[in-house]
Amino acid sequence: MKILSIESSCDETAAAIIEDGRCILANQVYTQIAIHRKYGGVVPEIASRNHVMKMPYVVQDALDEAQLTFDDLDAIAVTKGPGLVGALLVGVSEAKALAYALDKPLIGVNHIEGHIAANYLAFPELEPPFLALIVSGGHTNLVIVKDYGTNIILGRTRDDAAGEAFDKVARVLGYPYPGGPAIDQAAQIGDAQAIDFPRVMLEKDSYDFSFSGLKSAVLNELNHRKMKNIPYKKEDVAASFQAAVLDVLTEKTIRCAEAYGMKKIVIAGGVSANKGLRTRMDVAAKQHNWALYYPPLSLCTDNAAMIGARAYYDFKLGRTSSWDLNAVPGLELPGLDRNAELNLN
Ligand code: ATP
Ligand code: MG
Ligand code: FE
Repeated sequence: MKILSIESSCDETAAAIIEDGRCILANQVYTQIAIHRKYGGVVPEIASRNHVMKMPYVVQDALDEAQLTFDDLDAIAVTKGPGLVGALLVGVSEAKALAYALDKPLIGVNHIEGHIAANYLAFPELEPPFLALIVSGGHTNLVIVKDYGTNIILGRTRDDAAGEAFDKVARVLGYPYPGGPAIDQAAQIGDAQAIDFPRVMLEKDSYDFSFSGLKSAVLNELNHRKMKNIPYKKEDVAASFQAAVLDVLTEKTIRCAEAYGMKKIVIAGGVSANKGLRTRMDVAAKQHNWALYYPPLSLCTDNAAMIGARAYYDFKLGRTSSWDLNAVPGLELPGLDRNAELNLN
């Protein structure tokens, strides 16, 4: 089954063609990063306008890359949320128009479930159940993916997401948007022990996250040093901040894996590109005997391939969309609560 998938939730205009949820026939990403950089972050209206301009070309490029025509497609998939409403609407409108004109099924996909599915493209042998740590620009979650249709949500962020914290700290350090990769690079040469930033673990058995206190601690430290003329190296601040984030992410994942007896661990979302996080999780995997999965760098940040991968499983579950499909900016990751019966057998 060949699915044409479309992604436009933020500042990537993307289209892909995926076969049976696992094989990439085409993967086209037009990133607007350079356009938004001068504003220090994504400007929603500018993102929407650029999606409108680029979308038809990106779709055609995907068909050309796969050497296919519209007639060869079996379904059209699109990110329905979460994301910026205007940006999402461009993709949703494009997908609806194509599906209607071609008389093919329409599949609205949850973007966060898409991030998880990026791993299905990279690892054909990977199947649920597994524990997923989702670390993206807007989300931080610990989730048991019980089967293709069932998530059990164990933890979520109570304030800022991991990627959001990276971007905000990078901004005050003067790194260009998006700040995550810049912090990652700086952290490799900085001293992670230079400043002792807080590790917010919350209640003893909580798998929730909170990164806004850490963000404030970095800002306060920088203001304090500037006022008192205490010198600091940007790289040391980056390394110390990153270490605080990674300590929490790694520790909570280990606790969660132990509590629920999970040995298959998946990382997903833009922050899963972080070199420090990958290294830390590699070490944890060796210590705890995990099979650890994270996507190649190109599939960590937003792309349509991951949407096409997820769409295949949504289709198999009968979760297709009707013509009234709409963009849902605040769409939640679907799943049962942590207190739900955990029957993993
Ligand atoms: P969401 O998926 O939650 O809707 P999003 O789509 O904006 O949010 P992603 O596609 O997951 O976000 O990825 C973008 C985020 O990943 C940004 O916050 C960016 O700074 C972060 N990021 C990318 N590369 C790295 C890296 N190497 N280290 C840390 N963070 C990174
Ligand atoms: Mg982006
Ligand atoms: Fe994303």
